[in-house]
Amino acid sequence: MTTDVLEQRIRILPESVINQIAAGEVVLRPASIIKELGENAIDAEAFSISFWTEEGGKSLIKVTDDGVGMSRIDAELCFERHATSKIQQVQDLYRLSTRGFRGEALASIAAVAEVELFTRRHHDTVGTRVLISFGEKRLIEPVRCAAGTTLIVRRLFHRLPVRRKALRSEATEHRHNLEEFFRLAYPHPERHFRFYHNKELLYDLPRAELSRRILSIHPELSLSSLVSISEETPFFTVQGYIVLPEHTPPHNREGYLFINRRYVRHGGIQQAIGQVYKSLLPMDTKPLYWLFLEVPPHQVDVNITPSKTEVRLLNEVEIRTMLLSIVRRALAVGHLNLPSQWLGASSGELPPVPSSFSSPVASEVQKKLPFHLPEEKEKVKERPGFILLYDRFLILWWRKEGWLLDLIGVQERILYERQLKELPVPQQGLLFPALLPLTPLQKAKLMEIQPNLQAQGLHIELREGREVVLHSIPVGLSPSIAISLLQAVLEMVSEESLPSDWRKRLAHHIAKQGAARTPPILNTETIEALWSQLEKCEDPNHSPDGRRIRFLLTEEVLTKLFS
Ligand code: ADP
Ligand code: MG
Repeated sequence: MTTDVLEQRIRILPESVINQIAAGEVVLRPASIIKELGENAIDAEAFSISFWTEEGGKSLIKVTDDGVGMSRIDAELCFERHATSKIQQVQDLYRLSTRGFRGEALASIAAVAEVELFTRRHHDTVGTRVLISFGEKRLIEPVRCAAGTTLIVRRLFHRLPVRRKALRSEATEHRHNLEEFFRLAYPHPERHFRFYHNKELLYDLPRAELSRRILSIHPELSLSSLVSISEETPFFTVQGYIVLPEHTPPHNREGYLFINRRYVRHGGIQQAIGQVYKSLLPMDTKPLYWLFLEVPPHQVDVNITPSKTEVRLLNEVEIRTMLLSIVRRALAVGHLNLPSQWLGASSGELPPVPSSFSSPVASEVQKKLPFHLPEEKEKVKERPGFILLYDRFLILWWRKEGWLLDLIGVQERILYERQLKELPVPQQGLLFPALLPLTPLQKAKLMEIQPNLQAQGLHIELREGREVVLHSIPVGLSPSIAISLLQAVLEMVSEESLPSDWRKRLAHHIAKQGAARTPPILNTETIEALWSQLEKCEDPNHSPDGRRIRFLLTEEVLTKLFS
């Protein structure tokens, strides 16, 4: 028989390694136990992991797995401090593939509760039962039990009244427990997870694709609220989903970031993602996403806090920048509601969207319903879908019409008409007024039209007869154009007589100078606003100098394009 009960995988870490490990309390509340025991089950290669809690975990937490189990000797050793089978030397900290490595969780839990362990390796006929109560070993005996491991934690903090008192209500602890449970379940959709509270099965999550797993935890979402992400960069690969802003649950508290399948918090990255969504979500709502980064283990340091949820990344700046542009693009693509005709038959490729950003809607549709769109798709039709090309050209799909727009031209047209029609034009003060010298002739003419200029949004002051100062310009324009604007005004008043169309010429100048070369923030609201402003224009199809600024992409136009 090779099934030696004395086979020992667990070792006590040497002092030198212990000193390198972030020290601190592991068990803060029931949820910490959910996390530690869940991670152990995952490290033990379990396929099915079940959690039971009672009273929010205060009176009972039980975790059962069908993983590798432990020999009798390991079952005894696992409660020792710094006892682990996962690392042996300091270098191992830099090539971690397991959730755990500190060898402290079971010791810490056994110190503050009553713990009962049942464990059996698959090739053993008899398993081991260990009882340990508030740090004192009570019993170790052979037992008949299922293959795998079951850990039962009772009476948490019972002998530590201060810490017991610090626990919150059952409901609050329960919420924390569930949150930890989700953080384990998301990155392991290939394993079956169950969660029972007070004997009621709350979550039964059989192995499934990631999108299914997400939707079973978030039944209020649907495939059409998710945009899939899958990208490879020189520094990392990322997979996952982001939720479109308009589908984000109200008051959502956090997005999920995983590095090498470990739930982590990374302020820098997560705040940056928050910025991408900033103008798209209400103040009290955080973006919801599940992003799974794979980074070479030696470039990630998880050994910062005992809970291992804070990480340090070697190439943080690069990773953050690339991830942001990936999220930004995915958001833009997600807004593009592909018209149904574009979703080809059974195995067709997705049209102009880069395949890595194909929306789950599209891919699901392709798989299951080659000729129909699901109903969910119909509901979201009313929103404009868009994609920005080369920071300037906008493809818009809205109300069953496709448009191609030149954003610069569109802004020129809108500014031009505002300048002529919206009198007085609202103005903004300049922090640094623009100043130019003046001839007596220019001064005379300027005095004449000063009130009209004021109506045009230009507040000028004629200083000591020799200088003209521009104090304000129309709102929305960049202050950097102030001086060229003032120059244009001076040119006009330098001519023999004031040109009769000076107002148009000024509007033209303002439109040209004012149209931002960098695209405005685009989201469904700003696009709707832009569109309605354009529609109100006398000529929404041309820029002030007669260039075409939008095309209706009829089927005919497109067919011609491809003929
Ligand atoms: P760590 O996970 O950091 O190694 P723990 O205190 O959580 O430390 O666990 C100690 C050891 O006990 C682990 O290294 C592992 O060998 C063993 N162990 C714990 N839980 C399980 C389990 N569910 N199945 C098999 N072995 C386990
Ligand atoms: Mg562990």
